[in-house]
Order: sequence, then C-alpha cells, then structure tokens
Amino acid sequence: MDGNKLFLFDFDGVIVDGMNEYWRSSLLACEKFLCSSDKKIDPNLYKNIPKTFKEIRPWVQYGWEMVLIVHEIIKKDNPLNDNNKNIFIDQYQHNCQKIMQNNFWIAEELQKFLNESRELQINRDFEMWVNLHNPFYEVLDFMKKLNQEKIKTGIITTKGEVFAAKILKKLDIYSEFIFGYESGPKTKIAGDLSKEFEIIGFLEDRKKTLLEIKQNVKTRNIPCFLADWGYLKNSDRYNLTGEIQLLKLKNLKDIVAI
Ligand SMILES: [Mg+2]
Repeated sequence: MDGNKLFLFDFDGVIVDGMNEYWRSSLLACEKFLCSSDKKIDPNLYKNIPKTFKEIRPWVQYGWEMVLIVHEIIKKDNPLNDNNKNIFIDQYQHNCQKIMQNNFWIAEELQKFLNESRELQINRDFEMWVNLHNPFYEVLDFMKKLNQEKIKTGIITTKGEVFAAKILKKLDIYSEFIFGYESGPKTKIAGDLSKEFEIIGFLEDRKKTLLEIKQNVKTRNIPCFLADWGYLKNSDRYNLTGEIQLLKLKNLKDIVAI
C-alpha cells in the first residue's frame, strides 16, 4: 500500500480556531432567521464572546447546536449563564432536545440558518469572514509536510463542506478530501476510506468521536490523536486508554516517522 497513505484531520479546533466566527455566525443566524419570541438582540452582543459560550463549545458536535446555545444565552428570561451553565452541560443532549421541542425547531432547519448566516457574511465581505478564523500554523506546516512526503490528507468536519473548503483555499492548504456533515458520520467515512487507503492517523479534538473510531471494527486500527489545543473538556485529558494519544501542538511533527 505504498504511496497510499492517508492522514485524517478534523477541522474546527484542530486546523483553525473559529470561536469568533461561531459566535458571530450563530448570533446572526438567531437575529436574521430564527423564529423565537424569546430572543433579545442587542448589537453590542457581536462585540464580545460570552465566557459561557466558549465554555460550552467542547460539548458541541454539530454546528446547529451553537445556534441553540446562542439563543439560550441571549434570551430574555432565565438566560444561560455562568450560574446555570453546569446544569445545562450535565445533561447536554437532553437539554438541547428539550429546547428544540419547546420551540418546535428541527436540527436541519437550524443548520440551514447557520449556513445562510455564513453565506450572508461571505457575500458581504469574504475577507472579514475568513479572518474570523485563526489557523494553527503548526498544523498547516504538518499538512504541508505530509503533502511533500506524498502522504494524502483528508478533512472530516461537521461543518458544511463548502465553508471548510473556502477557508482552506484562503490558507493555501491543499487536501485530497474534504467531507462535511453532508457526508454522514465520521466513523462511516473513515471506514469507507480505510478500504482504499492506509490511514496512518486521525487527529480530532472530540474525544467521543475517537472512542467511536476505536470501538468500530472497521476503523479501530487507525491511530487516534486527541488535539490538546482544541475545544476539549478538562476531563477529556484524563483516563485516556492508551489507544488514544493526547497530542500537543509542539509534538505534532514527531507523530509520524516520515
Ligand atoms: Mg473539532
């Protein structure tokens, strides 16, 4: 399988820090598209990212969840804040579902709102939008190094594929594959790719995703790396089984002998 090696990357929290963009785009999605009598939009909200939003980000799996979280943070009554944050986090999935039901929202619709919010900003001022993302240059260098060594790279993200592609192009990063949320679960994508390629690494900042990779017979042989610089819960760093390696930015260049 020489020349058929592939290294897989998550996008958000691994290749770029997009916290500014998540907040702005989700807030704009709330303001422009979300139907709710509960929301209260103040233009000043765009200026600073609330601490609560940053702290909840490690629990987020799909982009649409951020629209819901922003709504909870900015709503008029009983907003989500530092005092009640832990109650929300403790039963994160359940609380998200409950809010969806109470507001008669559906995930696909919230995702559509987020996408539309991004498109709106891209059409208005592409440079401004793209600059809301801060790349991790060590990761970009690592990807370039893999390319030089004829190792292919693939990005599997829960973002819309088109948005990840625009940012990568701007960063001058080439990747053979980009899969967005449209392509289905990450484990399935990695499993399909492993039929054709020798996958020499999967770098991701969501521990649960890596555990799923390790629990699946088709993907469990893929070396998994948890990105220490990403959106991690503190507890993610502990009790790693050894099958998943916690990786620091400075150690990135040492993980594959190339
Ligand atoms: Mg991520």
